[in-house]
Amino acid sequence: MSAASSGDLAGKVAIVTGASSGIGYAIAELFARHGAAVAINYFAHADAAHRLVGEIEAAGGRALALEGDISEASAVESLVATTVETFGRLDILVNNAGIEATQSFLETDESNWDRTIAVDLKGPFLCLQAAARRMQQGGGSIVNISSIHEDFPFPGSTPYVAAKGGLRMLMRNASLELAGYGIRVNNVAPGAIATPINAATLADPAKVKELQRIVPLRRPGEPSEVAEVVLFLASDRASYVTGSTYYVDGGYVQHAEPL
Ligand code: NAD
Repeated sequence: MSAASSGDLAGKVAIVTGASSGIGYAIAELFARHGAAVAINYFAHADAAHRLVGEIEAAGGRALALEGDISEASAVESLVATTVETFGRLDILVNNAGIEATQSFLETDESNWDRTIAVDLKGPFLCLQAAARRMQQGGGSIVNISSIHEDFPFPGSTPYVAAKGGLRMLMRNASLELAGYGIRVNNVAPGAIATPINAATLADPAKVKELQRIVPLRRPGEPSEVAEVVLFLASDRASYVTGSTYYVDGGYVQHAEPL
């Protein structure tokens, strides 16, 4: 990896939540390659977070691994404060951390509902608000990793779709209230991406075959393919983009079968 001093994010400071695996890891890595100093928030896989910091620093970039549960306000405040103390400013937040636990609607228990809403909806709200308060003076870009299920049902994952649907409206409201401060807020909505969150699906040949049938591009996506869209939205190249959702789903939501 080489960290650019003249990339799309040169001179910018970014926080990426849940960045020790999957999509968040790919985003943090790409941001560093494009010149950003990156705060890598993690809740699990500490070794991977620290390894990524080492790789970024070895390539001449700046990074910091910060443990914290984004569903707790004190942890979020400390994440943002430490980032600003260390790197001097905050320009970009990527609300990436998320969880999903599959249960049928009738069997969904209260603990699944509470934890999923806490991590997938309350956490992004806390991070968005804390980051926006720091960005009030100089503007910034906030990208939430939602899901195609911010808009499309997903039987078996009611808390998840409720949280991601909420994240859609959180983004839309925040984009209006923060536009006057030069803060842009957008969502990236992945389809089926090859990461630990859906490892069970991707390990099941029958499900992979079905995925290949219904996804127009005929394959799951890679974390790096999501990261490229996040990079664009985070950068000044997307200076007139706010309040929108960008699908990165291989055409999944366009799927239609003839009768
Ligand atoms: P992942 O499991 O690798 O990443 C999720 C990360 O969030 C993990 O590193 C996990 O440790 C972290 N996390 C969990 N709870 C946390 C907490 N309380 N505080 C801080 N971090 C926490 O899976 P992923 O696919 O990379 O998921 C990233 C995001 O993308 C999630 O929001 C997910 O809902 C979304 N997404 C993924 C897919 C997909 O197909 N992989 C599709 C649509 C949306």
